[in-house]
This record gives sequence, structure tokens and C-alpha cells, in this order.
Amino acid sequence: MTIQWFPGHMTRARRQIQEKLKLIDVAIELVDARLPLSSRNPMIDDILQGKPRMILLNKADLADPAVTREWIDYFKQEGYAAVAIDASTGQGVKEIPAMARELLQDKIEKQLAKGVNPRAIRALIVGIPNVGKSTLINRMAGRNIAATGDRPGITKGQQWIKVGSEMELLDTPGILWPKFEDQNVGYRLAMTGAIREEILNIEDIAFFAVKYLAKYYWEPLAERFELEEAPQDFENPDEIVAVMEAVGRKRGCLVSGGRVDLEKASSVLLRELRAGKLGRYSLESPY
Ligand code: GDP
Repeated sequence: MTIQWFPGHMTRARRQIQEKLKLIDVAIELVDARLPLSSRNPMIDDILQGKPRMILLNKADLADPAVTREWIDYFKQEGYAAVAIDASTGQGVKEIPAMARELLQDKIEKQLAKGVNPRAIRALIVGIPNVGKSTLINRMAGRNIAATGDRPGITKGQQWIKVGSEMELLDTPGILWPKFEDQNVGYRLAMTGAIREEILNIEDIAFFAVKYLAKYYWEPLAERFELEEAPQDFENPDEIVAVMEAVGRKRGCLVSGGRVDLEKASSVLLRELRAGKLGRYSLESPY
């Protein structure tokens, strides 16, 4: 589900996260491994106010593994602890407490030197809608706590969830907003299903998807829909539409006269893409 963000919402979301920051030692920023920049909040550094942070690239099962590795290197070079995870199966999730401990090592050592027994590390998950925050909370808790999907406006009392013996997690995540000003960001998010189709035109989303996939992931696209001719000029809209039409013909999306129903073709294509039928792909690369 998508939240409509208006300046008032943003201010409130920001304030809510900043209230929670007072309670925690470490922020866990969740991004989508397929689009780690577009699925980030543009003001995240400012919002987190220097709180120790790790970046988790979620849904890594859907992303191009080679590109995900580049992203991990990139974030590490930027000075962050970063790891690829798949919250839905739990892949990589076990590493999180150890990563948090490493991030806070200096503080923990100082406490130990003073004879203070360090308490459990307190963490907050933050991220944009649909990035997998609830799935990760449930996974870390080892049981169903957070309802997946967002319920904007419903606030419940927050509680600490124990994660092993050394970590505690706030059961309500911090919800951030993506960058809206850049239209390509919107299309990338829409392609992955992170924002609702009513916001952008479905044929435009499919056009964007086909253009990108034809350029970078032609083989799985061609194989899935038995396409013969790859576009020669990706900037020529007619060539991209021709691919969309070929997809529509393959799936029987026709209107009277044998013309392709582009809206239906777009819907079929996006559904198959989001279901992972076109294989793993990444929409952004750091270099
Ligand atoms: P939230 O809005 O950030 O809390 O996101 P949710 O936890 O509700 O997840 C949104 C959707 O992404 C759900 O359909 C999840 O099943 C799916 N999802 C979450 N994590 C993963 C993952 O690692 N891999 C895949 N393939 N899907 C995931």
C-alpha cells in the first residue's frame, strides 16, 4: 500500500522517527537491493542525525547478484556497515546482531572498561513503504508481530522485541518517504510494485520497464515472451512499443481488428516481472 506524502506527513514522519532515535543505539536502514538509491529517503542522513547505522539491501533474492555485490562495496566505501538480505526467507538476517555489536564496539568496550555491563543493543528499522520492514521485524522476532503492509495512521504502543540475548528491536518501524521529484525514481519504484499503479500510468510504467529490460536484460525478456528482434535504438519509442506489442500478441492481449491491447499487455508484463518470472534484475548500479 502506498502512503500519499504531503509536507505535513513528512514533517510528522520525521518527527516520529526522531522521537524513536532517542530510544535506540543503532538504526537499521532497509533499502530494496534492486534500487538502493531510489528506495531511500533523500534526507536520510539528516533524519538519522549521525546515529550509528547499518544498511540492509533487502529482497536480494530478486536482484542481480553481481550488481548487489557492487552496492555492498559502494556502501562500505561510504563508511556504512552493509549486507544483502532476503527477509522473506531469513537469508542474511542472522548476521544483524553481530553487525550491530561491531558498529558499537567502541562504546561497548568503554562501558566494560568502566565496569558497566552493557545492556542489549536497541535498534530501529527504518525504510520506505513496501521495502520489507514488517517482514524483517517478524523474521527477527521469530514470530508474527508486525502486520505486513502499511497501516498509515494507526499507531499502537511500541514495544521492544528481543532478538537473541544481545539485541532489542522496536516493534514499530520508522516509515520514510521516497524521493518524489525525480520521475525515473517513481517509475523504478512502480516497476517493482512499491508504489501503486494509479499514481503513474500503467502503459508508461511498462514502457519504462521494457526499455530498461531490453537494454540490460534482453535475454530473459526475449526467452519468456519468445521475442525475436531486440530494439536497435533504445531511444526510439516505436521500437520499445513494438516489443510491448509482441509481448501482448504472445499473451493474447488483442482487441477487435487484431490490434494489441497495450494496457492489458502492460498489465501482464508487469505482473510477470513482479512475480519474478523474468529472472533477477537490478535497476540501478553504483558505478
Ligand atoms: P513494509 O511496508 O516495509 O513493512 O513491507 P512488508 O514487510 O509488508 O513487505 C512488502 C512485500 O514485500 C510483502 O509482499 C513481502 O512479502 C515482500 N518481501 C519482503 N521482504 C522480501 C524479500 O526479502 N524478498 C522478497 N522476494 N519479497 C519480500
